Amino acid sequence: MTKFSDLNLNPKVLKAIDEAGYETPTPIQAGAIPSALEGKDVLGIAQTGTGKTASFTLPMITLLARGRARARMPRSLVLCPTRELAAQVAENFDTYTKHLKLTKALLIGGVSFKEQDALIDRGVDVLIATPGRLLDHFERGKLLLTGVQIMVVDEADRMLDMGFIPDIERIFSLTPFTRQTLFFSATMAPEIERITNTFLSAPARIEVARQATASETIEQGVVMFKASRRDREASEKRKVLRALIDAEGDKCTNAIIFCNRKTDVDICAKSLKKYGYNAAPIHGDLDQSQRMRTLDGFRDGEIRLLVASDVAARGLDIPSVSHVFNFDVPGHAEDYVHRIGRTGRAGREGKAFTICTGRDEKAFDAVETLIQKQITRVENPVKPVKPVKPAKPEKQVADNEQTPPEKKQRAPRSENKSSGRQSRAGRGGDNTVVGMGDHLPSFIALSFEERRAG
Ligand code: AMP
Repeated sequence: MTKFSDLNLNPKVLKAIDEAGYETPTPIQAGAIPSALEGKDVLGIAQTGTGKTASFTLPMITLLARGRARARMPRSLVLCPTRELAAQVAENFDTYTKHLKLTKALLIGGVSFKEQDALIDRGVDVLIATPGRLLDHFERGKLLLTGVQIMVVDEADRMLDMGFIPDIERIFSLTPFTRQTLFFSATMAPEIERITNTFLSAPARIEVARQATASETIEQGVVMFKASRRDREASEKRKVLRALIDAEGDKCTNAIIFCNRKTDVDICAKSLKKYGYNAAPIHGDLDQSQRMRTLDGFRDGEIRLLVASDVAARGLDIPSVSHVFNFDVPGHAEDYVHRIGRTGRAGREGKAFTICTGRDEKAFDAVETLIQKQITRVENPVKPVKPVKPAKPEKQVADNEQTPPEKKQRAPRSENKSSGRQSRAGRGGDNTVVGMGDHLPSFIALSFEERRAG
């Protein structure tokens, strides 16, 4: 097995690695570091959680340890799709450079231009940026990219999803042709393949196992959920989520709950809070300081449930998440793999539950096809919904009077197969409801039942 000490890393980097508690390099590190140190381009096909950040930061630091930065001309550049990921890469640099004197700047939205400008003016060894913000600085004449010796593109597939590819191409063209490129992507879509063919030169290609196959420690389940009424789907789905969380009890120490839309992230977090859960939202519309606060709170254990969108959660380094809940089935099957990869990291056990509505079944099929595995069907933890209580009793009664009772009863009966009262009513048993149909107020129905049972 390869050891860090076999990799020709700077001794001060090795010391920092040791202090970080890493014992052996992960496969992407063992594969990428030697080629990167030889000055070769690297194409790393790896996802977050595989140790890919250190696979480029460690050789970069080793290479940059010699030489000095010049004003406004960063010596290396790391491009990340999201602010959170950029901030995490910056934290990684801090960890591994603690015994070296390397400077860095972080160019991300939500952080003031002024401070970063001052750093760049003085000269930085490492510039970590999101593409848009980097180009803003460049266009304001504050930055020259002609001194870039090493350029990293992290999570290129997410850059593609977010429409950053033209920016990336532009940035490539602003850096010297002789630069070394370290390029990482979880998947190789044709567009990504094209970029690598254009901008990488004879790269060492290192591919590590997909997380779907690597994370055998994640127990996965799905609730095939059907709302009692279409207009109640959202609230009933939230109830299913609460029941799933409750069913896990203390085993659920902390969890990320994924929603497909930002609005649902907010609604879901608000609703959980209303029901007394310790939850907070994170998505791209929240300002940077708020997102950082939430993230720190979640890492420190002050927040138990993080409700997130895919983009915001991408690349978050949270080592010990016990559970992932997919409130929605993701639209892209690959996002499922990223989402559940937030748990079961580094060999730990984890659980991932998904709530799948009828509309999501196709997307869910795509997930099972991708991971080549049937996900365990979990029974809906919420008891079958009782017959509908009338919101406006007088009007409902009037409606029912115009509708034959058997027609009104058909739909709920099929959804409440286990309801004895329903089926007896259907057979015209003693407690058949006449006139009020299913809109019988439930307390009346209950007293009938209780009387019968008693
Ligand atoms: P990444 O894939 O870069 O997001 O890294 C995932 C997690 O693995 C981070 O928490 C890293 O600190 C950690 N990590 C990276 N390399 C190693 C290693 N060789 N041994 C143990 N943990 C590591």
